[in-house]
Amino acid sequence: MSDLVELTATDLLERFRTGQLRAVELVEACLEQIRRYDSHIGAFLQVDAEEALAQAAQIDRRRQAGEPLGSLAGIPVAIKDNLCTQGVPTTCGSRMLADFRPPYDATVIQRLKSADAILLGRTNMDEFAMGGSTETSAFQKTRNPWDLERIPGGSSGGSAACVAARMTPLAVGTDTGGSIRQPAALCGVVGLKPTYGRVSRYGLVAFASSLDQIGPLARSVEDAALLLEVLAGHDPKDSTSVPTPVPPYSKTVGQKLPDLRIGIVPEHYTEGLDAEVAQAVQEAVKLYRSLGATVREVHLPHSKYAVAAYYIIAPSEASSNLARYDGVHFGYRTPEQAMRAQLEAEQAALRRAGNQAALEELDSPLVRMFRQTRSEGFGPEVKRRIMLGTYALSAGYYEAYYLKALKVRRLIRQDFDQAFQQVDIILGPVTPAPAFRLGEKIHDPLAMYLFDLYTVVTNLAGICGISIPCGFSRQGLPIGLHLQAPPFEEERLLRAAAMFQQATQWHRHRPPLEELVVSGT
Ligand code: GLN
Repeated sequence: MSDLVELTATDLLERFRTGQLRAVELVEACLEQIRRYDSHIGAFLQVDAEEALAQAAQIDRRRQAGEPLGSLAGIPVAIKDNLCTQGVPTTCGSRMLADFRPPYDATVIQRLKSADAILLGRTNMDEFAMGGSTETSAFQKTRNPWDLERIPGGSSGGSAACVAARMTPLAVGTDTGGSIRQPAALCGVVGLKPTYGRVSRYGLVAFASSLDQIGPLARSVEDAALLLEVLAGHDPKDSTSVPTPVPPYSKTVGQKLPDLRIGIVPEHYTEGLDAEVAQAVQEAVKLYRSLGATVREVHLPHSKYAVAAYYIIAPSEASSNLARYDGVHFGYRTPEQAMRAQLEAEQAALRRAGNQAALEELDSPLVRMFRQTRSEGFGPEVKRRIMLGTYALSAGYYEAYYLKALKVRRLIRQDFDQAFQQVDIILGPVTPAPAFRLGEKIHDPLAMYLFDLYTVVTNLAGICGISIPCGFSRQGLPIGLHLQAPPFEEERLLRAAAMFQQATQWHRHRPPLEELVVSGT
C-alpha cells in the first residue's frame, strides 16, 4: 500500500506546495486503494476515475504554471450520493433515482469545484438517508473496514468507510439525525454536523428539511476544519442558510481553548450504554481535566423524548418531501405497457363476471401508475417512514403526534440553551455501542432507531456536533467521542476536538485492511 493514502489532506497540501507530490500521483494512489479494497468494503457506488485523473492533470499543469489554485487543489473527495452533481448519477441509494442525472450542481458541489477539489466518486448510503447502517441502500452493502462482518454505520456509511479505508482523505456526508457522526464513530474517523443553516442545503436531495445538514468526514480534526471551511457559508439559494461569516476554521483549529468548561450529562449514562463505550468516554473526561478543562454536570431532562420526537418529525417531513416521486416529476416510472395490460386483464375479467360495480371501482391508469411506481421504486424502510409520517400528519392525529413532537423539540432546544449558559461544550458518547453486525437490527426498526439516541438531539436543537475517535473495544472496534457546541460555534467545537486529538493517538490507528482481505472474511 502506498504511504500517500495514509496522509491527511493537510499534509498532502503541504507536499503539493513544496513540489514533492503531484495530484495525478495522489489520485492514482487513491484509485489503487479502491481497486484493492473496495470489492470487499463496498464504499463506492461509482468511481469517476477518468474524470478525476484528467482533473488532477489539469491542476498539476495549473500549479506548475504558477496559477492561483483553490484551497483543496488536487485533494480527492468522495461524495455521498444524495448531493446533486450536474450530469452525474445521484441515486440517493434508491431505485427511484437509479437513473437520475441532475441538471445542476448542489451549492456544496460548486464550492468543492471552485476549491479545485477532485470529486473521485459517489458513496453508498441508506436509501434517501433513512437508516443507521447503510443496509437500506437499494444497491449494495457497505462493510466496516475494521470488521467486514459489521456495518459501517449510516446513513453516510459509504463516506465513513471510504475515509477509514484510506480510499480518499476526505468525504462529504449528510446528517439528519446522526448520519455523519454515527458512521464516523463506528469507522474510527472524524465527522462533523454543522449548525442548521451553516451549510447550504441547495441541491441536497431532501429527507427532513428542518433537520438536514451537510458536513465533512476526515481522518483528523484539522482536515475536518479544512473541508468545513469550503462547504460553509451563506447561499441565497437556500433561505435557511445564515449570513453569519465563516471563521477561518483551518487557521484557528490548533489554538487551545484556555478556560474550557465541559458539561457531562448524567442522563447519558443509562442502562443501554455499553460499558466499554462508557469507559472510553470517562477516560476522555479525565484527559480534558488534565488539559486544564473544568468539568461539571448539566442536565438535558427532555433528551429521553428525543428519539420519539425525531421519529415523528423526520418521517412527517419525509412523507411530504417524498411526495414528488410520482413517476412524473423525477426518477423511476413503472413500465406503462405492463401496467395497462394488467388493467385491461382485470377489466375483461370483471366484464365477463358482469361485475359492473367492481369495474367502476377500479383505479384509473394514472392512480395505478403512481401506486406502482412508488411500490416498486421505494424500499421497505422508506415506505415505513412515509406511512409513519402520513399517519402523524393526518387529520385527527396531527395535534397528538406532530404538534406534540414539535413542542418536545422546543423543550430540547431550551435544555441546551440553559446548559450552554454553564458550559462551553457538552461531551458524551456518539453511539450506545460499537458497530453491530450486518443483519443484526435490520428486521427490528425500533432497535435500529434507539441506536440514534445520542445523535438526534443535536439536529432537533439545531446545534453543532462532532465525533472524534476516543478508543477501541476489546474486539478492536472504534469508539467515538461526541462533543456538542451552541449554534454557529463550530470553531469552538473544532478547537476543543483538536485539543483532545493532540493529546491522544486514537486517530492514528488504521484498520487491518490487508489482514481482512487476505483472510477472506
Ligand atoms: N439514523 C437516523 C434515521 O434513520 C438518522 C439518519 C440521518 O441522519 N440521515 O433517520
